[in-house]
Amino acid sequence: MIIITCDHGGNLIPPEYQAEFKTAKAVLKTHRGWDPGALDFGNFLSDAFEASYFYSTTSRLLIDLNRSLNNPTLFSEWSKPYPVDVKANIIEEWYRPYRENVEMELFDLINHGEKVLHLAVHSFTPELNGEVRKADIGLLYDPKRSTEKAFCQTWLKQFKQQTPEYNVMRNSPYKGINDGFPTYLRTCFPESHYMGIELEINQKLIKPAKSWKKLQQQILETLQTFPE
Ligand SMILES: [Zn+2]
Repeated sequence: MIIITCDHGGNLIPPEYQAEFKTAKAVLKTHRGWDPGALDFGNFLSDAFEASYFYSTTSRLLIDLNRSLNNPTLFSEWSKPYPVDVKANIIEEWYRPYRENVEMELFDLINHGEKVLHLAVHSFTPELNGEVRKADIGLLYDPKRSTEKAFCQTWLKQFKQQTPEYNVMRNSPYKGINDGFPTYLRTCFPESHYMGIELEINQKLIKPAKSWKKLQQQILETLQTFPE
């Protein structure tokens, strides 16, 4: 059983908050505002697997759905100055519904004995603060969870066989154990029934459209080699 999430699918700011985001217009269009390509890719994967798909098109600059509530980067420099009650409202309206829907779906499935692969789809900027990222595709997981480790080892092998032209790396450009949604979900569900893998795609690969389409198909094929 697979479920797909996309935390950073869009760069929209809800109308009631737009006044504070006037100075963020340029930044919203960049990787800081969203994960270009991720929403489409999540759509593509969930269609292929007929999987539940949870996504957000609200910018992470309002609130970052891939952070814990106590993380200092939950709110951005634009949303941090909001008074406490406004922040509480943003959490109730934008953060909790998304996170709780995913958690409830997992709870239902796992309660019925299902073993679930949660694929969290993200994309990353090719260069950050002058550092060029080596990975084309990153598979992020917790090395202490034997199921996730084994899954990513096999997945990496599939990539090497099927798409040797891409540099697929484990726990790069980020670590799977960093504060993120799967990291939280690992505290809720045992490794025997929950695997939370973040799939990170280098944004240099999402253009031109034709090769991006091809890559999406190739990634799908690496996943189709796994038993259901
Ligand atoms: Zn992301």
